[in-house]
Amino acid sequence: MAKIILTGDRPTGKLHVGHYVGSLKRRVELQESGGYDQIFIMIADAQALTDNADDPEKVRQNIIEVALDYLSVGLDPAKSTLFIQSQVPQLCELSFYYMNLVTVSRLQRNPTVKSEIQMRNFEASIPVGFFTYPISQAADITAFKATTVPVGEDQMPMIEQTREIVHKFNTVYGETLVMPDILLPENKACLRLPGTDGKAKMSKSLGNCIFLSDTEKDVQKKIMSMFTDPNHLKVEDPGQVEGNPVFIYLDAFCRDEHFARFLPEYENLDALKAHYTRGGLGDVKVKKFLNKVLQEELAPIRARRKQFEKDIPAVYKILEEGSRKAEAVAAQTLADVKQAMKIDYFADQALIAEQAKRFGEG
Ligand code: ATP
Ligand code: MG
Repeated sequence: MAKIILTGDRPTGKLHVGHYVGSLKRRVELQESGGYDQIFIMIADAQALTDNADDPEKVRQNIIEVALDYLSVGLDPAKSTLFIQSQVPQLCELSFYYMNLVTVSRLQRNPTVKSEIQMRNFEASIPVGFFTYPISQAADITAFKATTVPVGEDQMPMIEQTREIVHKFNTVYGETLVMPDILLPENKACLRLPGTDGKAKMSKSLGNCIFLSDTEKDVQKKIMSMFTDPNHLKVEDPGQVEGNPVFIYLDAFCRDEHFARFLPEYENLDALKAHYTRGGLGDVKVKKFLNKVLQEELAPIRARRKQFEKDIPAVYKILEEGSRKAEAVAAQTLADVKQAMKIDYFADQALIAEQAKRFGEG
């Protein structure tokens, strides 16, 4: 069976280093591994509208930002199909049919939907579109017959919901849809990168992000004012590394070779953590090190972005061509689905002949 990847991001803001470690970096590695037959990367504008219906301009403006972020981290349109969700109308049609296979109570139990409803203060008035977006996500994944979905940990309940829909569909209508698997980051720190404010998740909606397109100065400023262990007041105080975002970022980004170059008095991160825990190591020194590590990772991304920014029409062209390609693939799946659901009347010559016979005989 073909190995196919589908993943994407909502154009609700620029992409940040949480996206990078949670999903983007992995996508590029998978793209370069040559182990996949097809890779689809989707800008989920229709999904972004489910909780931004009154702010279409925000979604519209962020399409190009996300596309530039994709290209600058190394997603290559020659190897991966980059497309825009709303430009593939078959996805809506698939969602509509999948809706019959999911109960309201099942959606209400989805932990990601639950926490996002809380985060957005939607409790009393949840838009139906937002409430049902896990179904539309199942449409996105299955339309491309994706076998692999590389995403962050917050997406686990979504993939579970998709798998249930696939199972139900195939049970009711016959083997049609492909069962996808989630691919989580191997590094635990990357599962859900916290915000610079220490909140559980770096998120566009929470304003606690280091963006891939931030300037060198901005990144430095954000790192130097990051939340750390609130009880680590004086340098000689013992500090806590667990739950300390500065150390979680180091877990996510730094490698032993960084110590040799930027902080040679420590052999590796374990040694640095041990000193911090013991006391006698100040936050400023750790933050300066983190800044060097992160700047090194972000500099080439920033430079590539500058290049792509010079020809914006070409970037839209990439998305347009990708959307056309994606539409052709989704159309095939939709045809399979309609055939399985017995709503392919005009393509079914046997049905027409059978009815003709029935009425002819009558
Ligand atoms: P929004 O607040 O609009 O939902 P978001 O920051 O959660 O934005 P999404 O577009 O919903 O971003 O997520 C895109 C992908 O990035 C998903 O695979 C998600 O799991 C991953 N991701 C988002 N934030 C993080 C994070 N802080 N750490 C690891 N992965 C993340
Ligand atoms: Mg999200």
